[in-house]
Parts: sequence; structure tokens; C-alpha cells
Amino acid sequence: MSHAVLAGGVGAARYLTGALEAFDPASVTGIVNVADDVVLHGLHISPDLDTCTYTLAGAIDPERGWGLVEETWQAMAELGRYGGENWFSLGDRDLGTHLFRTARMHAGATLTEVTAEVTTAWDLECRLLPVTDDRVETRVELTDGREIGFQEYFVGLQHSVEVASVRFAGADQASLSSDVAATIRTADALVIAPSNPIVSIGPLLAVPGLLELVEARRDRTVAVSPIIGGAALKGPADRMLRELGEESSVVGVARRYRDLAATLVIDDVDRDLAPAVEDAGMRAVVIPTIMKDPGVAAALARACHNAAVGS
Ligand code: GDP
Ligand code: CA
Repeated sequence: MSHAVLAGGVGAARYLTGALEAFDPASVTGIVNVADDVVLHGLHISPDLDTCTYTLAGAIDPERGWGLVEETWQAMAELGRYGGENWFSLGDRDLGTHLFRTARMHAGATLTEVTAEVTTAWDLECRLLPVTDDRVETRVELTDGREIGFQEYFVGLQHSVEVASVRFAGADQASLSSDVAATIRTADALVIAPSNPIVSIGPLLAVPGLLELVEARRDRTVAVSPIIGGAALKGPADRMLRELGEESSVVGVARRYRDLAATLVIDDVDRDLAPAVEDAGMRAVVIPTIMKDPGVAAALARACHNAAVGS
């Protein structure tokens, strides 16, 4: 049995927690977005990989939803003393991860290798695979004509600006991880996690080869809608969809994913839209999808697996 998940940050991390509870952890693989990665202070920071790792390790800060529990901020305070760039908060504990990753990469390790070292150190039994070892960077073009990096949009401006378009710089030249390709070819179930379709799943699909591999497994692929009752639980996914001319609803999500996945899992609150999802070309499965506790996440993972394998 194997269960593979296309993953962004928080929504995917919660889903993966459920998958680890539902299945043998060694059979679970997260294929993780790297286009939010940023180099700051010379350090390679991988927010989605770290959110997945820390969440699965039970070490994520539950209030913030990112970074580590029992965090302190002394390094940031000292950085502020010097007038250093401190708009992107890095906790003292979290900095250890970035120092390790950066040093290993300077010594020649790939992001895939470092990620395996990091997840092993946190005793994770599942695999987290960066989609590529090459740099892919989400660039956000605003309606005022400026083009900015993803973290500047998301953290710096708190995504309070209107988006005209999004592109994934470097994606054309990026090589799909061979581990990722093998995982997609052989997974019993492939799940598109409830992540931002544009800036978390979008950059995975932009790495040459991935889209075709997923399309070839369409019958075994199940997407979980990140849009519930027309809105995102958190973050700009709903606004981004509208700003880019799509519909912020499970039907809009179905239109985006119908060539990739046979089934869309939608929340109970969207029950009435199930026929419209089916008209858009996806089978609809209706169950609770708000993963407020691991039990809901585990039930969701089981339902996705069953939908994929057809039982
Ligand atoms: P990131 O954490 O900023 O990288 O963002 P994600 O790629 O995880 O995307 C956030 C999206 O996940 C939002 O649209 C949320 O609505 C969705 N999401 C987060 N948690 C859940 C959940 O428990 N259930 C569902 N269905 N969606 C969720
Ligand atoms: Ca992210």
C-alpha cells in the first residue's frame, strides 16, 4: 500500500498527519512545494517543507501554525539592533534548521538529501520529497505593475494587495526529482492536498513532467478542496482565484483539477454543489474536511484512499 500527497504548507501538513494515523507511516510520501523557498541572510529557508516536518513531528507552534513551539526570538532582536532585514521572522530554534540545511547544501548535498536528514532527525517515518532539487521561485505580479517575490507578497505585504498574475521562475529548467517521478508512477493513491491551488499546487505542476505523470494516474488521483463554503480557511486562496478570473468555490476547484484527478472531496457545507462538481467533470465525495483534530484528518485520508483505489 502506498499513499502519495502533493503538498503545500498548513493544509497539507494536517492532511499528512491524518495519513500517518490511518496508514503505515512508511507507505506515506509527501511531494512538497519549494517555490515559497527564500534565501535570507544567506540561509536557505524552505517554509512548506518545514511546516510539514514540524507538524508531523508534533512540534509546530499551534497558535501561529508555522515555526516551532517554545520558540524565542533573540536572534531577530539582535538583527533589528543592526537594522538588518527582519520582516521575515525566524525563531532561534527554527534558525537551527536553516543553518543545518544551508551548510549541507554548501557542502554539496541536494535539498532531497538534506530533507531526509532533517525528517530522520525528527523521527518521521514517512518521506517528504521536495518536488525538485532546482530553484523554482513564485513571482507575483500585482495589478499596480510591480512584480515581487512570494514571501514579500505573503509575509511582507500580508497578501493585502491585488494579484494580476503568478509565474514560477526557473520551473522550465527544473528537473523533476526522480524519487518523485517514481512515487507518482507507483502510488496506489495520489492525493492533491487541500493547499492553495495557485501558489502551492501550481508550482508543483509547473515542473516539467509532473503534470503528465499525474494526468496518467487520473483514475487514482483524488483532490481535497481547500475552498469550503466559497472561502479559504486561512490565507489568500479564495481571493487569488477570483483575482485570476476563476470561481472561489468547489466548482472553481473542480475546473482547475478535472484533467488531473477523477475525484474531488468537498466539505459537508458544499453538499448542494456536488452535482455542479460532477457537471464540471469530477466525481464528488462529500465528507467533513475541516481538519480541526487528527481524527477528522485520518478519516479524510481513509476516504481519499478508498476513492482512489475504488473501494
Ligand atoms: P500555506 O500553509 O500558506 O503554504 O498554504 P497552503 O498551501 O496549505 O494552502 C492553504 C489552503 O489550505 C487554504 O485555502 C485553506 O483553506 C486550506 N486548508 C487549510 N487547512 C485546511 C483543512 O483543514 N481543510 C481543508 N479542506 N482545507 C484546509
Ligand atoms: Ca506555502
